[in-house]
Amino acid sequence: MNRPPDEAALPARPDSFWGPVHGIPDSDRLSEHHEVIVVGAGITGMSTALLLAERGVDVAVIDARRIGSGSTGRSTAKVSVLHGTRTGQIRQSHGEQTAQAYLTAQLRGQDLVRRVAEKSGIVDWDVRDAWTYATSPKSIGQIQREAAALSEFGMDAMLAEPVELPFQTSAAVCLPEQMQINPAQYLAALHGSLTELGVPVVWPERIASITKTNGRLHLTSTPGTDVSADWVVVATLLPFPLRTLMFATTKPARSYALAARVDGDLPQGMYLSADSPTHSLRTATSQAGEEFLLLGGNGHPTGRGNPTSRHVEALADWAREHFSVREFTHRWAAQDYTSADQLPHIGASPLGPPNVLIATGFGKWGFTNGSAAAQILSGMIVDEVPDWARPFAPRLPNSLSGWKTLAMNNAEVAATLASGWVLEPGRGSVASGRGAVRRDLPHPDAVSEVDGTRRVCSAVCTHLGGIVRWNDADQSWDCPLHGSRFAPDGEVIVGPAVHSLAVEDG
Ligand SMILES: Cc1cc2nc3c(=O)[nH]c(=O)nc-3n(C[C@H](O)[C@H](O)[C@H](O)COP(=O)(O)OP(=O)(O)OC[C@H]3O[C@@H](n4cnc5c(N)ncnc54)[C@H](O)[C@@H]3O)c2cc1C
Repeated sequence: MNRPPDEAALPARPDSFWGPVHGIPDSDRLSEHHEVIVVGAGITGMSTALLLAERGVDVAVIDARRIGSGSTGRSTAKVSVLHGTRTGQIRQSHGEQTAQAYLTAQLRGQDLVRRVAEKSGIVDWDVRDAWTYATSPKSIGQIQREAAALSEFGMDAMLAEPVELPFQTSAAVCLPEQMQINPAQYLAALHGSLTELGVPVVWPERIASITKTNGRLHLTSTPGTDVSADWVVVATLLPFPLRTLMFATTKPARSYALAARVDGDLPQGMYLSADSPTHSLRTATSQAGEEFLLLGGNGHPTGRGNPTSRHVEALADWAREHFSVREFTHRWAAQDYTSADQLPHIGASPLGPPNVLIATGFGKWGFTNGSAAAQILSGMIVDEVPDWARPFAPRLPNSLSGWKTLAMNNAEVAATLASGWVLEPGRGSVASGRGAVRRDLPHPDAVSEVDGTRRVCSAVCTHLGGIVRWNDADQSWDCPLHGSRFAPDGEVIVGPAVHSLAVEDG
């Protein structure tokens, strides 16, 4: 497609507006044994460790990568209790008590974020109105249902017209006085609080196994570190131990974000569309004090919908259509998992040992859900479980229709698995910046060429054997089954996989 010469172009490489998490010195050291080990140093893991350390528990945090490499550091970081149209959906499918528990959890999560941000003094945060809007008549009912559900539980939600948007809406719900924050600064604040309390935060150690022997849990990392604990909290976005079965009850999706310099007034609210493709808006201020517009959305299931660059292009087109974009300064992507029943899974897995706790399925609302999860998980360990925690206990379907949905989801996964193995011959050559799966029996190869370096890895995901697909927006190999992602050299970027793709002779 021919583009006008003066059109704002997308940055060639992905890079988050938030940048790296500053102020984190080298990794700390682990003891041989800790009362609690938290695996994963995102918002969920570090908040859980903080609440435990504040109660005097001996806790350590381990991460596979540098702090901020996960979804938290790449999020759009709206700390809102208005989650699109989710509370209305939960009210309709799970009833009044569960919807009330969901809202209470989000309010407690929001309180924790505010407390940590305020105490640290290093987090930029603003109070903003949150909006969910519809542009098509078909979503009006969902907006009305959301407003009704929030009002039923005493929230100050109202149906209103968002006058600052540069396009027509058919309905909108507003929840005033929510928060938007800088997530990299928030992770630095959590890390700083942990350091003050003497909690070791250790990386890079990708935990590959958790086993129970002689009453103790033993964790082993891919570099070969062994450590033991009485409790383990797996806060890795999607728990990697297979026995939790969480990979079968949640779906991974990637979404895109752009930071733009825009002429004219910027909308000051935080906006999310109810219609698909999803569009999200908020502002953010740079270190130099300049205000940017952050746009997000155009998500798709991880490893599917290729070429992925078309989703970023579509988001940029939407931005250009509605705003006077002078420049896109950053583009990036992140992923999250949504559970089949819209509720997060927080607690002990139904199939695992009772002292291995998990948290997942935040459905792109992990700032409040992850902070609420921290309160539930730490509460389980110190025997002070909040009374609103029950609906979120990790669960397998409890009805025939639930099992049918799960079976259909996994049949779709199985079909993807099978289709991945049916490869066209002769797709071996790749252009610069590209990757292709080459049929090279007995195993297909993932061949890529990035920055002039040609690499060949096994194309078989080390989690459950899916065939990876090239993600041209992020230059990675992504598995369409459960969302594992690998760098061109095969290194794991995002689990649940814990082992790299095998490097093959090219
Ligand atoms: C584009 C996008 C925008 C979003 N915007 C919002 C928003 O505005 N508001 C909101 O509330 N939510 C938002 N979310 C969702 C939110 O970002 C996530 O739900 C949340 O960050 C998840 O936090 P976490 O701590 O559970 O996971 P993560 O932040 O991903 O942390 C998990 C950590 O575990 C580590 N890890 C993984 N496997 C292992 C292993 N085997 N061993 C050791 N370490 C391991 C990873 O390296 C990572 O650091 C958004 C999500 C996306 C994708």
